[in-house]
Amino acid sequence: MIASSLPLERTERCTLTGRLKSRVLLIDDDEAYTFLCKRHLRADESFEYTVSSASTVNQALTICRNELFDCIVIDYRLPDRTGTEVINLLREQLEDAMPPTIVLTADGGEEAAIEAVRSGASDFLAKRNVTRESLCRVVRNAVEKGMLRQSLTCRVHELEAANDLLVKRNDEIQRFYHTVSHEVKTPLTAIQEFVSIVFDGLAGPVQDEQKTILNYALESCSQICSHFDDLLELSRFETGKMTVDMTPSSIHAVFDHCIVASTPAAIAKGISLKSDNPARMPLVMMQSNRIMQVISNLINNAIKFTDAGGAVTLECNVIEEGCRLRLCVRDTGCGIPAGDTSKVFERLFQVTQGSDQQDSGGMGLGLSIASEIVSLHGSTIELDSELGVGSAFSFTLACCPDEVPAAP
Ligand code: ADP
Repeated sequence: MIASSLPLERTERCTLTGRLKSRVLLIDDDEAYTFLCKRHLRADESFEYTVSSASTVNQALTICRNELFDCIVIDYRLPDRTGTEVINLLREQLEDAMPPTIVLTADGGEEAAIEAVRSGASDFLAKRNVTRESLCRVVRNAVEKGMLRQSLTCRVHELEAANDLLVKRNDEIQRFYHTVSHEVKTPLTAIQEFVSIVFDGLAGPVQDEQKTILNYALESCSQICSHFDDLLELSRFETGKMTVDMTPSSIHAVFDHCIVASTPAAIAKGISLKSDNPARMPLVMMQSNRIMQVISNLINNAIKFTDAGGAVTLECNVIEEGCRLRLCVRDTGCGIPAGDTSKVFERLFQVTQGSDQQDSGGMGLGLSIASEIVSLHGSTIELDSELGVGSAFSFTLACCPDEVPAAP
């Protein structure tokens, strides 16, 4: 492949006189004219040109098979082809290694010039205007343009290679997460089971103090299990294995379930937890257990970051003329600094400033999983928060088409 032997980088091409080396091919059947152009180009002050010449298209194609050029100057009217045809033939052969081309037109050849530029020529020059200055200028411009294009192509190739590597590494990391999570979860579940057997007194009588200690062990096990569940979940999102099966479902049922599940934690912390929504709400399109997971996560965070005496409220209202339902979990907790409101959705991010927050017992994965799930439902989680006042996390769900009121 010709493109693999692209010319050297510009910096490697300086001569002892400080001029840059460059290769030019002249395609013209007029030998005297070619001789003149060669002379002009040799006088250039910035580039030291090595100039080759061909008097027919076939000869030019043969030369280009063995040598790469930084610029090709083509006489528009060759005996057998037009400049446009020559450019097309050269491009077919050289592909990515095609250098910039300049077309020399005869008197009154503006139309030819326009046609040549349309077919990819970098520049044109009327033969009658060819002087040392004008020829050197157009060739220099074309060579410099080619060099820029070449270094851009190199950078693009480098970036593509770096990106491929990152994708590969990311896959490896996801596989690693997956394997480790599985490997650790199996013995962990066994430990949980054995401790439960002892806790329940099935292995002999257990005193209250021992029960308290065993309970701590069980809580720690379930905390680690839930961290590994989060890692497994994230790796499913990363590998595109997570999908949702949306069916018409009731948000009431989801809210009720979440409130029942989180009430013990709210009571333990002295926080009021209630839902504040209309008695009847339209069915929405969702995978209920996934939306339950999102809302539970938002409620648990709200409880975690709200002090005793505070309140966590679930809100729901119909928006967009009955087309969507907006769900919101609002708290009167410590709030999130303005600079962190978008970062909290990034994986592993935890707010460190202001810090009632320092040891939340989490890993900073909950919100990133929640936002992936919400995005699979065609929405995004919005956060409205003020330090010391509280936070409101909200997102929307599409109402079931049967329930959307007809347009008036
Ligand atoms: P974690 O498991 O650490 O809670 P999340 O992804 O659920 O992970 O949350 C990321 C971070 O966002 C939390 O560590 C916390 O700093 C901040 N955060 C989330 N919810 C709230 C909230 N309701 N009030 C204040 N800070 C919150």
